[in-house]
Amino acid sequence: MVTKFANEPYLDFSLDKNRQEMEQAIARLKAEAGAEHRLCIGGRRVKAREQFVSYNPSDKKPVGTFQKGTVKEAEKAIAAALGAFESWKTVPAIERASVFLRAARIMRQRRFEFDAAMVLEEGKSWIEADADFAEAVDFLEFYSREAIRYDAPCGVTPWPGELQEVRYIPLGVGIVIPPWNFPCAIMAGMTSAAAVSGNTVVLKPSSDAPLIATLFARVLEQAGLPAGVVNLLTGSGGTTGDFLVEHPKTRFVSFTGSKPVGLGIIEKAARVGPGQKWIKRVVAEMGGKDCVVVDSEADFDDAVEGVALSAFGFQGQKCSAGSRAIVDAKVYDAFLDALQKRVKKIKVGPTENPQNWMGPVINERAFDSIMEYVKVGRTEGRLICGGKGDKNKGFFIEPTVFADVKRNARIAQEEIFGPVLSVIKARGFSDALSIANGTEYGLTGAVYSRNREKLLRAKREFHVGNLYLNRKCTGALVDVQPFGGFNMSGTDSKAGGRDYLLLFLQAKSITERF
Ligand code: NDP
Repeated sequence: MVTKFANEPYLDFSLDKNRQEMEQAIARLKAEAGAEHRLCIGGRRVKAREQFVSYNPSDKKPVGTFQKGTVKEAEKAIAAALGAFESWKTVPAIERASVFLRAARIMRQRRFEFDAAMVLEEGKSWIEADADFAEAVDFLEFYSREAIRYDAPCGVTPWPGELQEVRYIPLGVGIVIPPWNFPCAIMAGMTSAAAVSGNTVVLKPSSDAPLIATLFARVLEQAGLPAGVVNLLTGSGGTTGDFLVEHPKTRFVSFTGSKPVGLGIIEKAARVGPGQKWIKRVVAEMGGKDCVVVDSEADFDDAVEGVALSAFGFQGQKCSAGSRAIVDAKVYDAFLDALQKRVKKIKVGPTENPQNWMGPVINERAFDSIMEYVKVGRTEGRLICGGKGDKNKGFFIEPTVFADVKRNARIAQEEIFGPVLSVIKARGFSDALSIANGTEYGLTGAVYSRNREKLLRAKREFHVGNLYLNRKCTGALVDVQPFGGFNMSGTDSKAGGRDYLLLFLQAKSITERF
């Protein structure tokens, strides 16, 4: 009997015991930074010809060495997944689910290790790392229950003299390509959704997050997942991505990442290769240019806090980050004043120290690209906070706010994916909604207002996959706020929602006449 799903609570780091365990886990992982980790293909540890190092963005020190998988290893991974599919697809859903429920249990026992790995490898603050961990466990728990639900006979209208049934069956071999910014939650969520549904997977993690993916692959092994069901292929997406996506035996691709890479995958997956006898399915969850609307009738303090948290949590490196604040002209000046004071309180530094609420951005490429946008911002807006970056020791950028940004400015339209907020003045609520909807994306959005009519209008007219009223636009919980965007933010899927597993299943209708 599987109990009802409930979201995993977060750790309380104000408790001495939790703080000490976290410090010890960080120290242990740092001591293991010299380790070399292998690929996992068909249950075997595989070494590639070349290796790469994953670095801590807070201090540029290594966190581990990983294999640079090439097309040769990618071919082996697809072959292993193809072989394993023949038996895994026949395993009853309840047994598949039990493996992933066991994995969730093992992860809970190793919680500090996972949290510490995200602090070191991605520069997450302790709280952000633990929220990422909790979401990963939620995905394992939730999708396991969903797999059992989809396995039950689904209702069809009876027909005289016949017996009808509809069964959901898996698709085949899937390529899972997650991003680095939710290195545990999104990676584990995408992988488990595909595999618990009876598919087999080649998991190609981000080159900025190979450690977390390696820890997760080991947990799956420990939980008893049969060899070949999930194959770990670290290395550059640029090297193996096209091969994996275009392979004729690939049945589906589950991608989360940037718009350009996502659109490239959709295009390549649409081409039918020699020997291919299906149309590939692609689930692509992509970028955003999310915003918080502050109405003239907003609860002012809540709105200021919500904008600051949405814009700068995890250094603004969330697809849901509120990188635009759209503020009614009536409260605009007061809002800027209060926001400036709030943002100045944010502490930036290495996240090993839990006092630092904001850490580094992920790597030098991101640092340079964000600082380029800061340069653009100086010509497109009025700098009221931050603006400086320092990449000497780690990749740190101050929380940066530009005021008086025009709605069509580059910094108001392009995803920056860093701690840069554009504040845009709106001429009333209608204008605010029009600015909010005025990008090519449609991922998350928030509206602060105490006026019921305006909130109802936002529900009807604000076109985003995840809309929040009177709260920040980040922090969706599994099965509480199923997550995924519209327009160029993706293929309209909802991770952590009750339709999600259907993306990895196909329905077979069977009729027997008697
Ligand atoms: P990228 O698009 O750069 O990379 C995502 C993944 O794609 C990585 O694993 C990467 O591997 C791989 N990849 C790169 N090139 C190719 C290729 N040619 N073929 C196949 N795979 C490839 O995104 P980031 O990792 O930088 O993630 C940030 C982006 O993700 C932002 O745009 C953010 O908004 C979006 N995102 C969207 C979410 C959503 O739910 N909509 C959630 C979280 C993030 P490698 O690292 O080796 O290059």
